[in-house]
Formats: sequence, structure tokens, C-alpha cells
Amino acid sequence: MTEKQRLLDNRYMRMARIWAENSYCERRKVGALLVKNQMIISDGYNGTPSGFENKCEDENNVSKPYVLHAEANAISKIARSHNSSDNATLYVTASPCIECAKLIIQAGIKRVVYGEKYRIMDGVELLERANIEVLFLEEEK
Ligand SMILES: [Zn+2]
Repeated sequence: MTEKQRLLDNRYMRMARIWAENSYCERRKVGALLVKNQMIISDGYNGTPSGFENKCEDENNVSKPYVLHAEANAISKIARSHNSSDNATLYVTASPCIECAKLIIQAGIKRVVYGEKYRIMDGVELLERANIEVLFLEEEK
């Protein structure tokens, strides 16, 4: 990887971390950016669907089943735009789950950079099986 790419990856990941601050979920805040040709073409953070209450957890502090993950929000947002996720790079602050990995594959995303490892890594394994370039990028101290 070139030095320029490394710098860009770190910058986009910092932006994804800032974007995660938009999430009103209390248990976990995740941010995602879709980048193509050095343009941010979509963004997302975890949360309930449009028009629903801005609360992710139920009374038992369990995430509601209809909360969308940051990656799913970024990918579905682009479905409403005139842009395309084909060949894009996804920056996401946490490793994608298997459900999001399926969406990432079908959305034609070619590269995934993630910033934090989750306890279950089956999503990342699925991406690798689909020959998507996956890069773990630790937060720069
Ligand atoms: Zn997910």
C-alpha cells in the first residue's frame, strides 16, 4: 500500500469515528463512510429506520431488532441516490457482522477498512471469501 493510501485510510477512518458520534444508540456507536474516487458518496451510523423513535435500546437495554447497522444505513442511503457503491471502499469503525457483510458483497464494494475487532469475526471471514480486500486499521495514538 502506498503512503498516500495509508494517510487517506487513516483520515477517512477518523471521519467515520466522528460520524459515529451522530448515533443516539447508547450501547454502541458505529459510523460508516462509502468512498469512491476520493469522494464520500454515502455515510451512515447505527440507528432506527427513518421516522422511528430515536432510541435503539428497549427497556431491558437490549438493541431493538429493527435497528440498522451503520454499514446497512450507508448502503441503503446510496440506493436512494444517483450514485453507485460499485467498486467503492467502505470505512466502518467496527468489524462488519455477517448480515452487513452480505450487503457489502452484493453492493459491489471492493474494499473494507474497519477500525475495531468485534468478538464474532464471521462477517470479515465472509468478505474475504468474496475476495473483498479487508484491512484492519487500529486507531492511531
Ligand atoms: Zn452489521
